[in-house]
Amino acid sequence: MDVHCTTCGEPWDVDHLRYDAIYEAGMSQEEAEAWHSLPPGQKLNARYRQAFHTAGWEFGRSVINVIRCPCCPKDAQPDINRLHTKAALEEMLGDGEDGLAATFEDHQL
Ligand SMILES: [Zn+2]
Repeated sequence: MDVHCTTCGEPWDVDHLRYDAIYEAGMSQEEAEAWHSLPPGQKLNARYRQAFHTAGWEFGRSVINVIRCPCCPKDAQPDINRLHTKAALEEMLGDGEDGLAATFEDHQL
């Protein structure tokens, strides 16, 4: 399944976001591995959000909702409609990452 960056439209494989992106966020191997066992609500706490940000990532409430990615042109701004739609879906579907990923893919978000 692919989801798209809200800013540049780049498609990202959901498994890459859920399993691999953390290894590009400048964490130690142990920290990155520990990240996988965190409950969904803690995967984007301030510390991890900052690490992802340094690597060029910005997410909504979960890593499925890509707001900015390392492919984004430096000054690009997120597509506001897409940003709001994805935030609303995220709100509605809560922490169900699979459902969210499937819904984003269905709507090419
Ligand atoms: Zn992007």
